[in-house]
Amino acid sequence: MEKIGFIGLGIMGRPMAKNLIRAGYKLAVYDKYANLDDVKALGAETVSSSREAAAKSDLIITMLPNSPHVKDAILGKDGVAEGVRAGAVVVDMSSIAPAVSREVGQALAAKNVLFLDAPVSGGEPKAIDGTLAIMVGGDKEVFEKVKPVLLKMGSSVVHTGGLGSGNVTKLANQIIVALNIAAVSEAFTLAVKAGVDPQLVFDAIKGGLAGSAVLNAKVPMILDGNFKPGFRVELHIKDLQNALDTSHELGVPVPLTASVMETLQALKTDGMAANDHSAIIRYYEKLAKTEVRKIK
Ligand code: NAD
Repeated sequence: MEKIGFIGLGIMGRPMAKNLIRAGYKLAVYDKYANLDDVKALGAETVSSSREAAAKSDLIITMLPNSPHVKDAILGKDGVAEGVRAGAVVVDMSSIAPAVSREVGQALAAKNVLFLDAPVSGGEPKAIDGTLAIMVGGDKEVFEKVKPVLLKMGSSVVHTGGLGSGNVTKLANQIIVALNIAAVSEAFTLAVKAGVDPQLVFDAIKGGLAGSAVLNAKVPMILDGNFKPGFRVELHIKDLQNALDTSHELGVPVPLTASVMETLQALKTDGMAANDHSAIIRYYEKLAKTEVRKIK
């Protein structure tokens, strides 16, 4: 790999790019809004457009908020498609609508550029540790070619099928996480209202069938009243909107997802869009007029 173009260095992209630099790769980095001095100090070359990042690279990685940003950075003015060489590989690691992954992939294929959708799960701590779970859609041979690079950012890298299947897998992940937090919230609100210490409920059930990564990660935050993100409510709204759109296009009713979407919308209206998604508990607390916190 001669040089990697990295576009979008926010909460996730920045530590991912830094892990690639530490692994010895040469990077050309671009972000439309964020300052990149710290990444430059580590040895990356900063460039002034996605087009320029692509022109200097044989692998281009994007880590952007949502579908419109990915279309802008790859297919828009001064975008990747204007600078990329034939035979290069573009890997979009953002969580976006699977239909847009396929659209972008097809547009790049017309220029003989290869494309994979490779969203991640694990959040900022795992982006920093290089232990993300990465789910990859697209051609298997292209996947095998870039897998060593992905393994510098993640500890689990799984090829899930054709183009768009990475983002379908990520939508499934986001539905499960949102519904799981809502279930935990409903159950703990009941326990507290019934007069049982929530810490003891957590200790008693975490080793049983109700135990989960969500339970272990979110209950301690809830008990401390710590709703600092993590993963913001507004990003989960974006993912559930993509899940609802994709499900409805396919004729798949998703009643529980629709319900949790309304909970997230209520939190946003209540000024909590930038809270961690564990703030779902605050919706239930308000309904039941109680608080699920550590008993001092
Ligand atoms: P972020 O908003 O912190 O970072 C996005 C970066 O993209 C910003 O620095 C922004 O300036 C830049 N950007 C926006 N439009 C651009 C454009 N057209 N060209 C170049 N740069 C542009 O978001 P994040 O938290 O790093 O998330 C990135 C993606 O990863 C999202 O799809 C998100 O859903 C997903 N994700 C986030 C987490 C998390 O815990 N934060 C976990 C898993 C997956």
